[in-house]
Amino acid sequence: MSDERHQHEAACHCGRVKFRVRLADEFNTIRRCTCSYCRMRGAIAVSADLKDIEFVEGEDNLTLYQFNTRTAKHYFCRTCGIYTHHQRRSNPNQFGINVACIEGISPFDFPEVQVMDGVSHPSDSGTGPKIAGILRFDPTK
Ligand SMILES: [Zn+2]
Repeated sequence: MSDERHQHEAACHCGRVKFRVRLADEFNTIRRCTCSYCRMRGAIAVSADLKDIEFVEGEDNLTLYQFNTRTAKHYFCRTCGIYTHHQRRSNPNQFGINVACIEGISPFDFPEVQVMDGVSHPSDSGTGPKIAGILRFDPTK
């Protein structure tokens, strides 16, 4: 059975890490998060199933950061420092992908981005994911 979903080309800033990804629901799952790490990183992430990412080059140039419960795995390029993807704590069957790494996509393409309440993480609070707010971008031209 062929997969009709679009396969996106993606890369870090320096281009040493290149990958292809099919998204779980195209760009409908974009989000940011308020947790201690994401609020510093500042990237917009979009969901992909673990099986739907394929490294073309430079997987060995990625480095890994873990903290707190060390469940989530945050990957970034060891050369340019750009976050490429992470394996989620809230759903370990999924990666969050840095939308800015996807060819032809800018984080400023999205007028509204949901911000998840990562401070009270669903795995700590025992409740489902909560939305902390909506981030809006209004282009002036
Ligand atoms: Zn790089």
